[in-house]
Amino acid sequence: MDPLGLKIILITFVVFVPLERLFALHAEQKVFRKGWANDLVFLLVNGLVIKLGLLAVIAASIAAAAWVVPASFQATVGGLPLWVQIPLVILLSDLGFYWTHRLFHAVPWLWRFHAIHHSIEELDWLAAARVHPVDQILTKGVSLVPVVALGFSEWAIGVYALLYQWQSVLIHANVRFRFGPLRLLFASPEFHHWHHSNDREARDRNFAGQLSLLDALFGSLHMPRGRMTTAYRLHRPIPHRYAFQLLYPFVGDGVHQSVPALPATETELRPANPAPELASAVHPPVASGLTNR
Ligand SMILES: [Zn+2]
Ligand SMILES: [Zn+2]
Repeated sequence: MDPLGLKIILITFVVFVPLERLFALHAEQKVFRKGWANDLVFLLVNGLVIKLGLLAVIAASIAAAAWVVPASFQATVGGLPLWVQIPLVILLSDLGFYWTHRLFHAVPWLWRFHAIHHSIEELDWLAAARVHPVDQILTKGVSLVPVVALGFSEWAIGVYALLYQWQSVLIHANVRFRFGPLRLLFASPEFHHWHHSNDREARDRNFAGQLSLLDALFGSLHMPRGRMTTAYRLHRPIPHRYAFQLLYPFVGDGVHQSVPALPATETELRPANPAPELASAVHPPVASGLTNR
């Protein structure tokens, strides 16, 4: 029994730390960078909470699917060769991930949960762990429900989950990989580092988890040739410790009184709780994308 996933955490550490030393995007960044202990707590405690939440979502979708999707259809889908099922599972799941993630950026009260992930200032192999459980359970839940309900096999979903897990760590890692000609198909470190960038031009871009192709299709891609982003910072201070970060979406300003405010030039980039009309002015591509889909 390894409910906290200690073995896989150790393997990930052993694989990625040398990789980040050899191919560092930010060579000056330390292995034990700012907030690493907090993110380790996220990885250990949150990981377990998220697994339990997702198991509940999957069990509920299997039960609901039995009422909606004919068993013969599920049997046909589950009987397709794995080389057909796996790409379909990745595509369908990432479509769910893309739109849920985009919604988390566009809707102010959802953004309060997702802001925890964007509060990270130095990206590395551990950064993917800093995510509010409500954010992760909803985003991953929406991406998993259709593939479970449609009857894709456990093997196909298992391979997808494994690929997602490693790709998620890789795209946050402090490495300068760009994926060459495949950069417009698969999400890379270059692609996702731009998602975390505090550059004005990169705001609300690159939402996909695995397929950068989706951002190209839906008009939200930002990957200028020959450039990598250099700075990551949320435009509003978020409390630094795990427990406060979990509470932040519910109590907001009440838990980060002691965090110094950013200069006005930075705070103005993203309002703390933009009113709906202001949100549409701040995120025009997202707002129009959502109403048009
Ligand atoms: Zn995001
Ligand atoms: Zn991220």
